[in-house]
Amino acid sequence: MKYAEVSVNAPAAQRQTFSYSIPSELTVDVGQAVYVPFGQKTVQGIVVELADVPVFEPTRDITGVIDSHPLLSAKQILLAKWLGDYYLSPLFDALALMLPPGFERRVLTTVSLTHCQPDTAALTENQQKLFELLQRKGAVRLNEIEALLGKRRSATTIGQFVGRGLAERQYQLERIKVKTLFQQFIRLKVDAAVAAAAAEKSVKKAPGQAALLKYLAAGTGAVSFAEARLKTNCNKTTIDALLRKELITTETAEVRREPLSHYQVQLSQPLNLTDAQEAAFKPIQLSLHNNEGTKASLFLLHGVTASGKTEIYLQALAEAVKLGKKGIALVPEIALTPQTIERFSARFPGRVAVLHSELKLGERFDEWQRIKKGEVDVVVGPRSALFAPQPDLGLIIIDEEHEWTYKQTEQPPLYHARDAAVKLAELTGATLIMGSATPSLETYYHATKGDYRLLALPERVTINAPMPEVKVVDMREELKTGNRSVFSRKLIQGLEKVLANKEQAILFLNRRGSATTIECRNCGFVIKCKNCEIPMTYHLNSDSLLCHRCNNKMKPPQVCPNCLSRRIRYLGTGTEKINEEVQALFPQARLLRWDSDAVRADNSHHDILNKFRNYEADFLIGTQMVAKGLDLPLVTLVGVVLADTSLNLPDFRAGERTFQLLCQVAGRAGRGRSEGQVVIQTYNPDHYAVLAAAKHDYRAFYDKEIAFRRELREPPFTQLATLTFVHANDNRCREEAEIIAKRIIEERDARGVPDLNLIGPAPAFVHRLRGRYHWQIIVRGSELSSFLKNIPLPQGWMIDIDPVGL
Ligand code: ADP
Ligand code: ZN
Ligand code: ZN
Repeated sequence: MKYAEVSVNAPAAQRQTFSYSIPSELTVDVGQAVYVPFGQKTVQGIVVELADVPVFEPTRDITGVIDSHPLLSAKQILLAKWLGDYYLSPLFDALALMLPPGFERRVLTTVSLTHCQPDTAALTENQQKLFELLQRKGAVRLNEIEALLGKRRSATTIGQFVGRGLAERQYQLERIKVKTLFQQFIRLKVDAAVAAAAAEKSVKKAPGQAALLKYLAAGTGAVSFAEARLKTNCNKTTIDALLRKELITTETAEVRREPLSHYQVQLSQPLNLTDAQEAAFKPIQLSLHNNEGTKASLFLLHGVTASGKTEIYLQALAEAVKLGKKGIALVPEIALTPQTIERFSARFPGRVAVLHSELKLGERFDEWQRIKKGEVDVVVGPRSALFAPQPDLGLIIIDEEHEWTYKQTEQPPLYHARDAAVKLAELTGATLIMGSATPSLETYYHATKGDYRLLALPERVTINAPMPEVKVVDMREELKTGNRSVFSRKLIQGLEKVLANKEQAILFLNRRGSATTIECRNCGFVIKCKNCEIPMTYHLNSDSLLCHRCNNKMKPPQVCPNCLSRRIRYLGTGTEKINEEVQALFPQARLLRWDSDAVRADNSHHDILNKFRNYEADFLIGTQMVAKGLDLPLVTLVGVVLADTSLNLPDFRAGERTFQLLCQVAGRAGRGRSEGQVVIQTYNPDHYAVLAAAKHDYRAFYDKEIAFRRELREPPFTQLATLTFVHANDNRCREEAEIIAKRIIEERDARGVPDLNLIGPAPAFVHRLRGRYHWQIIVRGSELSSFLKNIPLPQGWMIDIDPVGL
């Protein structure tokens, strides 16, 4: 007898696998999807291992196979195990990342009466209601009963019925959500000339048949029923008649739902690499040939915007394809990177697949199947595309590797695509290229240590587009000279010039989260926590300042502790406010807003962007989104309304974040013929992140920032994990957090782990969300996954290893 270790699709399974016996009539392989009994239910499972002896006994039989071929490769299973172990997530959740779209099906419960007759007179009111429902409808879905009786009452009542043998529960997997799509086609069975002649003959008596025959004779090959109906107005009778006359045949064929079809691609040829590109390309090429899966095949491609990184990705992919290999290219956000997809499609026409959540399920399913069959050279998509079933993986590209969107933050596993990609490269021998103009501190640090190989492209490819001039405006000076507006004179002048020259400007406002900090408008001083060195957040309802790391509280001061000025104020201006002010200053200007509210309201990213591109607006006002890789030739001015908003985020990465954003925004200016200008407004003109961004000097920023990280013992010099508890009751939340914090300390002391400490418990940065409270513990140390896996966390806890935002 053979046995299989199966990861089952049931919340109770967590990181465990279960042993099942393989009945002799089934062939089961590693990576195969199966049905297995689990408790009273039948659930989906993935075979992760085969064995001659089971890990646990007694075992039950695997019920059946879902798909006759393994859905996952052995390497994908290893990757999923790593994800589960490292991010402490349920194993099935990690496997699910790699399964075909729509694969997961919930177990549905139905209830029906047995043959036992109850004494109806003795039934309670609820029991009466349930009995009537079941009698009337037969098998009834649990959610229908819950709609009638409420969640809790239906559980009790059903329990009573089942206990007395009056009713029984059945479990079924929900309906299959998506399948390969087949359609009916018709084609001529005779020569076109014969068909045309037959059409002539029947024009009078059967005009419908004649029209269809003519249509088929004029075209080539098969035509779908739908197309035939649309073009010739024919119906089933027409088709049947022609079938009887043996003039046509029908056939069934698979049709593909194709998301890329709306792109009109024009084939592009590889460019001659510049010397700098050539120098970066050579080691990548060598690594592709070696296919080793060592440190030598992990590259950080550090190149300023427009330095030709994308061209290197394209040529590396071409090289991989030449070697019979395939690639995966990750982009930060699909909606904001249409240009990248276009460039891949232009170089590899018909050989690109896209995978992302905005596609219809059917499209995603078909793309997945196409990839699995080995039909595409490259899969382009957001972080989840890393788990596409690309066979013979030779190259992984992560564009804009520093972007926060590469971290999964909603449902487990809370993985970072960059770290998962490093693991996948190691498992498959693929070459990994991480590209960025402003690499994340961690990545650059690894590169300097030799864990990754650093490749640099310091110049823009086209010499006639130099980096734009950046002017930092000290808003304290503006105030001193009596300018109380949110706009400096410099920025107003710039906007005037843009209008006069019929050019365009972008006004960038970084407003992430709803946190407000207190900053002195006179000297730029920001109230920070004395323990944590991060800005404290102002809370209106309690009129207090709070540190979201350590729960330190204080009353907001009336005067600046630094210069005793009374001009101390709360920062946090929204796009709407800016919009009003700009309109008041420039009544004739055409404004366009681009933030998540505007996108949600009516326009897609694409529409807003197109409007701006078509010069339907003079100024574009927006948040982060405007900073992404847009190429807008008319834009000659970029104004950063207030750099301090991101500088003052209560997060140790605030400096890094600000630097990256400012560099990106600055990169938007002057991409066309006219020279660009950038105006950064700030109360902290001497901050190293602002200064370095103004000079486009990554290294200057990195050196300062890494020194701080070392000094304050922040990543990459330590590892962090956050444990968050969510509950409707704030007190309950705090108590629970305190219990677990105590438990962690005990475990640490019992095991003698010296370099581990806790920050908090404290209310999370977003304390209250949709009526539920969040409390958080930050754990700081090393090898946190293996330490924390020993701490059992009750329901309601979320664990985040290497969090990106605190
Ligand atoms: P990045 O990805 O670093 O922003 P791109 O690859 O998009 O840079 O290159 C910027 C511009 O320069 C693009 O328009 C691209 O077509 C062009 N370009 C890149 N490499 C070359 C080259 N070797 N010769 C000529 N033009 C190039
Ligand atoms: Zn001050
Ligand atoms: Zn603090």
